[in-house]
Amino acid sequence: MLLDISRLRTGDEDVTRRYEAGAFANLTDDFKVVGPSEVVGTVRRDQGTTVVLVAKVTSSMEVVCGRCLEPYVIPVDAEVETRFVPPAEFAEVTAETAARDGALKHFGLAEYHDGSIDLGEVVREQLYLALPMKPLCTEACKGLCPICGANRNRETCACQHEWVDPRMAALAEWKSRNEKTKG
Ligand SMILES: [Zn+2]
Ligand SMILES: [Zn+2]
Repeated sequence: MLLDISRLRTGDEDVTRRYEAGAFANLTDDFKVVGPSEVVGTVRRDQGTTVVLVAKVTSSMEVVCGRCLEPYVIPVDAEVETRFVPPAEFAEVTAETAARDGALKHFGLAEYHDGSIDLGEVVREQLYLALPMKPLCTEACKGLCPICGANRNRETCACQHEWVDPRMAALAEWKSRNEKTKG
């Protein structure tokens, strides 16, 4: 997934890369890439050692719904504009960019190594950014029955869903124990 930038010049150069889902198979992430991932855009040398990638990143990943625990697919479609610098310059450029009124928000900043940009990392970053804090298969997901574990999106169980205040439950238990000791 490496993009050779060692012979790059100042003009825009097209980048079109496609990776099958299997290319991301051995990752220990909270999601599973289930469709092909694509990076389509341009790359150019900016000033000296800085290289700029402007691209559209598309992919699709499977995550588990936080309510019903069923897997579902999230499409990823992101525009990236990232400046790549060699590791030796990274700290310097970060400080410089941060000094210019929050430009970091608009520009991603990353390192390149041995004259190559790792496009796999570019895709992974977008997958992580697209990952919801609380994944939900649908906004209206009814989740699992806390009593029998049935998926309430698919079946209606006969459990009673009465909410009992845990403090009241403790009091009731204490009372009944008290009655027994008295009796
Ligand atoms: Zn769900
Ligand atoms: Zn139930």
